[in-house]
Amino acid sequence: MNLIILGPPGAGKGTQAQLLERDRGFIQLSTGDMLRAAQGTELGKKAKAIMDRGELVPDDVMVQIIANKLDEIGDRPFILDGFPRTQGQAEALDALLSKKHKQLGHVIQFKINDKILVQRVVGRFTCASCGEGYHDTLKRPKVENVCDRCGATEFTRRSDDNEQAMRARLAAYHTQTAPLIDYYDGRSFLRVVDGSADFETVRAQIASILDGN
Ligand code: AMP
Repeated sequence: MNLIILGPPGAGKGTQAQLLERDRGFIQLSTGDMLRAAQGTELGKKAKAIMDRGELVPDDVMVQIIANKLDEIGDRPFILDGFPRTQGQAEALDALLSKKHKQLGHVIQFKINDKILVQRVVGRFTCASCGEGYHDTLKRPKVENVCDRCGATEFTRRSDDNEQAMRARLAAYHTQTAPLIDYYDGRSFLRVVDGSADFETVRAQIASILDGN
């Protein structure tokens, strides 16, 4: 079964996609991670300028990236995390899936209000070694500058995790991505989880969707 995780920036999509990858054998296809990993290339540099403003990278670029990835992963079940983000991307995805004889299982929407999101995103940082997530006020490492999970001492921050870019990312979500909720609901793919709950609760909600309870 293949999934789409839909929700605003900071809703916890990446965290849950990683758990599903670890626990259930899905491949997480995060278009944001793909763009960040491409930052040494021409395309990556162009994308970075757009991402730092909190705007969306053009549809044709994103659709091509996903088309290549879907070819690469063969028959493994996947989770789209951060794609589609526009009506154009959603329609292109439908065409790609039907051409490649792949099917969508569920579209899981993370529902959460903007106020919590700004607080969650501004101030977050991750361990450069294992990717464990932290936050300046909500979750500091137990020992200053040492990762609780792996003991590494290097951390990274996303350049778009500042208040100005985050406001633009939220605006892009509401105007360009949120209409996809109706798009998928109309075709009965939509399932909703409470993105404001702690990650174990969200994880249980997703498990119950996937296990058909
Ligand atoms: P994310 O890591 O999902 O928060 O994405 C970070 C940034 O990458 C977004 O704010 C966009 O600038 C860009 N991006 C990621 N996925 C897409 C997409 N499907 N369409 C357009 N832009 C994207």
